[in-house]
Amino acid sequence: MEKNYRAELTGVFGDPVEGNPTGVMEEAAYEAMGLNYRYITMKVTPEGFPDAMKAIRALHMKGVNLTMPHKIAVIPYLDELSEAASIIGAVNAVVVREDGSLFGENTDGKGFVEALLRYGSHPEGKNIMILGAGGAARAIAVECALAGAAKITVVNRTVSKARELADLILAKTNAEAGSLAWTPGLEIPDGTDILINATCIGLGNDRANKPDIRYETITPNMTVSDVVFNPSDTLFLQEASRRGAQTVNGLGMLACQGARNFTLWTGAEAPLDIMIKKLREEFGEV
Ligand code: NDP
Repeated sequence: MEKNYRAELTGVFGDPVEGNPTGVMEEAAYEAMGLNYRYITMKVTPEGFPDAMKAIRALHMKGVNLTMPHKIAVIPYLDELSEAASIIGAVNAVVVREDGSLFGENTDGKGFVEALLRYGSHPEGKNIMILGAGGAARAIAVECALAGAAKITVVNRTVSKARELADLILAKTNAEAGSLAWTPGLEIPDGTDILINATCIGLGNDRANKPDIRYETITPNMTVSDVVFNPSDTLFLQEASRRGAQTVNGLGMLACQGARNFTLWTGAEAPLDIMIKKLREEFGEV
């Protein structure tokens, strides 16, 4: 057979994008599966975005991830959106289909639900409390609602944003939803099955911080999850674990959404354990 020196291209468009670790796990996955694919981390400013979108087709790319500030701006360029991406109103993964059309997906929430499943919990029928109402919270809330959650309560410092997200869930899904202003020492109500930190509290240099809640109100029957992936063992999860709760870390979510992207672009099952291992190495955790 004739040799093929051409690589299939994938990557991420964003600005700033320098600190985005996705390429590390995607390239590790491509290599492990023997695929001649590359994942390039690309600085794309809003001014350059229209040309970057044209380049997807010009370079015959398989697809791209989008990060700040392009997750909403990309929508007019797409031919079709997944149900979740359309409700969330943001896209973090574009797939170029066989016929050249562009499909938009949001894998953040799906990654969250898959990480939850991996550690033995499922949103179906559950009472879920989400701390935060930004992009990650929105993706998680919508995906949990589509997966059959009974009720989603959104708690946010800026209560108008919590209300807006709860209204979206009520309008577009079958789940119940409510909102709360985040007051210091927030108590987690009895009957909460899944508690999620979807804020950036505890991330990176902020690792000595944790969300301001009354940790004594976390009980062993709860599953507690954090979107913060670096460090993966956040103070929030440590406190929850001390109270006997099952914990699911943000590194699992990051790897599961990366695995989704991998499958969308290659059609193959992703080597999830390799991706998790690579991220742990990258964050100096092994
Ligand atoms: P946004 O900026 O969209 O939202 C941030 C949210 O955090 C807002 O609700 C904000 O409240 C709240 N918040 C920030 N600081 C504080 C504080 N000191 N006290 C109380 N609330 C606070 O960010 P994203 O939703 O995009 O990202 C949030 C986190 O999710 C980041 O750490 C990101 O790395 C992580 N993430 C992880 C992923 C994974 O795969 N593990 C995927 C995507 C994101 P307010 O509205 O009042 O400002």
